[in-house]
Amino acid sequence: MDLNSWQRQLAASITRPEQLAAHFDIDPVPLQAVAERYPMLITPYYLSLIEAPGDPIWRQCVPDPLELVPDQLFEDPLNESAFTPVPAVVHRYPDRALLMVSGTCAGFCRFCTRKSRIGRPALCFSDDQVSEGIDYIARQPGIRDVILTGGDPLLLDDYHLVDCLSRLRRIPHVEIVRIGTRVPVTLPARITTELCDSLSRLHPLYINTHFNHPRELTPESLQACSRLADVGIPLGNQTVLLRGVNDDPGTMSDLCRGLLAMRVRPYYLHQMDLAKGTTHFRVPVERGLEVVESLRGRVSGLGIPSYMVDPPGGEGKVELTRGSLVETGETIRVRTAQGDVVSLPNR
Ligand SMILES: *Cc1c(COP(=O)(O)O)cnc(C)c1O
Ligand code: SF4
Repeated sequence: MDLNSWQRQLAASITRPEQLAAHFDIDPVPLQAVAERYPMLITPYYLSLIEAPGDPIWRQCVPDPLELVPDQLFEDPLNESAFTPVPAVVHRYPDRALLMVSGTCAGFCRFCTRKSRIGRPALCFSDDQVSEGIDYIARQPGIRDVILTGGDPLLLDDYHLVDCLSRLRRIPHVEIVRIGTRVPVTLPARITTELCDSLSRLHPLYINTHFNHPRELTPESLQACSRLADVGIPLGNQTVLLRGVNDDPGTMSDLCRGLLAMRVRPYYLHQMDLAKGTTHFRVPVERGLEVVESLRGRVSGLGIPSYMVDPPGGEGKVELTRGSLVETGETIRVRTAQGDVVSLPNR
């Protein structure tokens, strides 16, 4: 089969810690057990963004022995299994549903909510299961907004992606489709002009990217985002608040301003989900509030994301502000827009 350039780049990704030792002066042995438990995958492009071991790019993609330290966290931190009517769908809000169309990504993020399943069969749904998901959405007239996720939907080849989007497009009650993807960050070569040409026929389509650090804003990622924006796809960004990556005002304001300059609107800043193996990335909510508040005045209002938390019971996302935070301490209690109070452990 003739592989596209992006497929060749993906195939050249490194997946074993020993391969890191060819680029950096590190001992890969302690990382091997980590990569066996939680797979590693770093594209040549993303690898080239690392300047030194332990830097903000490294921390996001290189296994860390701290991932194996026992913690009190969850393999399914959003209780998604309780909202899974058919295997490839998560349906938690009446009007919105997630459709998991890809079980893999162009890089496995060490902080991923689905890190216990990513890159493993548990998240790889067959074509039949995806079809079953589309049929489910077709039978639910309340669903207006479908979010393609996974894994990374843009790792489907153009044919499968366009097929899936076209089938969703034919469902009259589906008003908009969103794609959540980290490809502009880790494999910008995936955003080809052919792909953009196909996507331009499938509007209204929205894309949310996932940039976490200003060093991810490169000429390559700018080109990828520009191509998408040029075919009229509104671009948003979801950032995860990560210790040692972006948990300070200067980094966050550089990121948000840089995104705006790339025509990507900062949408959500996520308090990290309580996923097993991610404790070393956790940032206290108090610190998160300081970081978000510091953006006011430094960044155009257009570039200030909402700071969101997704409690483990699966109640749905809640915005964190000074006003919504009822209590911090052992437990965080936050008031939702509807006035209910939800609690989550402050770990
Ligand atoms: C986050 C999420 C959505 C989308 O939420 P928005 O606030 O509309 O961006 C939809 N379904 C599930 C299960 C989610 O976790
Ligand atoms: S790209 Fe998204 S789904 Fe894939 S590993 Fe990273 S956070 Fe998880």
